[in-house]
Amino acid sequence: MKLPFALARRFVAGESFEQSIPKVADLNESGIKVTLDLLGENVKDRKTADETLHHYIDLLNGIHEQDIQSSISIKLTMLGLDIDHTYCRDNLFSLLDVAKKNDQFVRIDMEGSDYTEVTLKLFREAHAVYGRHVGVVIQAYLHRTKKDIPELAEIGADVRLCKGAYSEPERVALQKMSAIREAYKEYAKILLEKTPYPRMATHDSLLIDWIKEYTNEQGIGPARFEFQMLYGMRLDTCKQLAGEGYYVRVYVPYGTMWLPYFTRRLKERKENIWFVLSTMFKK
Ligand SMILES: Cc1cc2nc3c(=O)[nH]c(=O)nc-3n(C[C@H](O)[C@H](O)[C@H](O)COP(=O)(O)OP(=O)(O)OC[C@H]3O[C@@H](n4cnc5c(N)ncnc54)[C@H](O)[C@@H]3O)c2cc1C
Repeated sequence: MKLPFALARRFVAGESFEQSIPKVADLNESGIKVTLDLLGENVKDRKTADETLHHYIDLLNGIHEQDIQSSISIKLTMLGLDIDHTYCRDNLFSLLDVAKKNDQFVRIDMEGSDYTEVTLKLFREAHAVYGRHVGVVIQAYLHRTKKDIPELAEIGADVRLCKGAYSEPERVALQKMSAIREAYKEYAKILLEKTPYPRMATHDSLLIDWIKEYTNEQGIGPARFEFQMLYGMRLDTCKQLAGEGYYVRVYVPYGTMWLPYFTRRLKERKENIWFVLSTMFKK
């Protein structure tokens, strides 16, 4: 059964790039930048991976033509990571050729822990060739992040720091929110000290307030980093931060394959479920 898109509208900008453009333009109007994400996960055949690559390329060119303030976020499993690593790297490099030509930026999202090692390996290879046109994501809840963060900082990588969205076992990831927050702070300090422009992805007021306080204490100006949040969450906070002079970027997903992303957002926060239920009864 196909669920109606109206359910997901709160968290997903549209089922196509064209439908998402007005939402991106509205955010840009409020001084907020965007990163667009074509929804989907784990492509298992080359035909679909090739189609996804062409969709991503069209997206980069579409953003360029529309003159909107947006980078893109991608998933390597959508470019064939489960099929063959070299094939996936070739696809990534084809995409980055376009990003470089248009002077654009591609962020590689981080997926479940089975993919961390290979994602970071392919990122390092891409970074060596495409430099500032490519970035990656680090999840504070992973134990291995203690070792990964200094290595990425060393090469001046463009890192989005988040807590981590996947369900991971204790041997792989911290489980307690208090420990994840402390790890987030430790890694944020390293990124702020060693990398040119870290991206702080969180909706957590405790972390947002801490980042503001810490950077203020350390004399780190608001132009040295960026806050990132997900579409449909804390828009007022995004606008407030932008009004205070911070850089803010919203992650805007779109596409027909919205169900897994939408389900993750509902699991994260019970208020989201109430919001969606209430929209079901509105015209
Ligand atoms: C831009 C962006 C990109 C991301 N990319 C990835 C990725 O590539 N890989 C990955 O694994 N994960 C990614 N994530 C998801 C991330 O890992 C977390 O799962 C997600 O952000 C939830 O953690 P949180 O810190 O935002 O807040 P949570 O841990 O969900 O919430 C902590 C507290 O923050 C407050 N809060 C949270 N939401 C709201 C709200 N809407 N309104 C008011 N208060 C609220 C509440 O007090 C809550 O108790 C991304 C997140 C963002 C924002």
